[in-house]
Amino acid sequence: MEAIVDKLGRPIRDLRISVTDRCNFRCTYCMPKEIFGDDYAFLPKSELLSFEEIERLSSIFASLGVKKLRLTGGEPLMRRDLPKLIARLTEIEGIEDIGLTTNGVLLGQYAKPLYEAGLRRLNMSLDALDPELFGTMNGRGIKPDLILSNIDRAKEVGFDIKMNMVVQKGVNEKEILPMASYFKERGMTLRFIEFMDVGNDNGWSFEKVVTKKEIYDMLKAEYEMEPAEEAYFGEVAKRYRYLDNGAEVGFITSVSESFCSSCTRARLSSEGKLYTCLFASSGFDLRELIRSGMQDDEIRDRIISVWEQRGDRYSDERTEQTAKNRKKIDMSYIGG
Ligand code: SAM
Ligand code: SF4
Ligand code: SF4
Repeated sequence: MEAIVDKLGRPIRDLRISVTDRCNFRCTYCMPKEIFGDDYAFLPKSELLSFEEIERLSSIFASLGVKKLRLTGGEPLMRRDLPKLIARLTEIEGIEDIGLTTNGVLLGQYAKPLYEAGLRRLNMSLDALDPELFGTMNGRGIKPDLILSNIDRAKEVGFDIKMNMVVQKGVNEKEILPMASYFKERGMTLRFIEFMDVGNDNGWSFEKVVTKKEIYDMLKAEYEMEPAEEAYFGEVAKRYRYLDNGAEVGFITSVSESFCSSCTRARLSSEGKLYTCLFASSGFDLRELIRSGMQDDEIRDRIISVWEQRGDRYSDERTEQTAKNRKKIDMSYIGG
């Protein structure tokens, strides 16, 4: 297999695939309802990559060194027949790991079929245990009880689950300790994600970020923890272990301690564009290549040349100015 690296020497290892731009939540930091309202024009079905197209592109990426796939969105469980896609992706040679990121609303109904299709790992998002606050943050008044019971359901089915919490100053900081305690008691990993300036509409500023250090200090005042060793090159989360029961917490520090130098992730949007950074302004249209009848080898060559020209390191260079002025792709098109 040919190892390709970008201009900063980074290989391509992970592919994040957004299977839909739609979502049943309107999280204030991702798809604020003032923008993503009733008349928002989501992509028509014909513009989404089909399962055949996703499978074909994933195989080409696997031949270039991608070992991990992550399905995301929008809300990936809103894509009809998702378990069928999973079953196809598990067959691809070279793919060692498939994960799914979900808000969990539809997991009660899909946990079993997803597991039966071969999925084993879930990242689930939950930003608060307080019902009022969570309802406001998700923009749809959905209560945390539904998500918590779906987590239990997914655990029963056999899933390995990691929890994600986006922390925003003045919004859900007071949920940090209750969330940490809830998931620690259950032996589950909770990862705190620093609020990022994704998309163009989420009102981000440095003041609204609660940094890893601030969260770590809060936890350290309550619990004894030790750093956990890096599990693999380019691991995004910085992990710590509670000394008393061995459960872990993690931090995704894209603002306070950027990790661009080991970023091996490519992103495929729901309409088939390849993005080489979460904060990119434009993508490379792979759907057009497929639909114009191009052969796998040629598509592969195009992907190689996009990757070889990649020099992205947005988080290393972020300033208030870039956050405000750069036109970025919406998170719901390319997932987290
Ligand atoms: N809908 C699914 C979910 O929420 O889990 C998958 C897609 S969502 C875009 C993927 C992840 O990105 C979620 O964990 C979400 O909390 C995170 N995210 C979205 N907007 C963010 C932001 N502005 N800063 C940090 N994380 C964000
Ligand atoms: Fe939907 Fe996930 Fe974005 Fe929330 S973070 S609006 S659940 S895509
Ligand atoms: Fe990767 Fe871009 Fe995030 Fe840096 S800012 S870690 S290059 S996605």
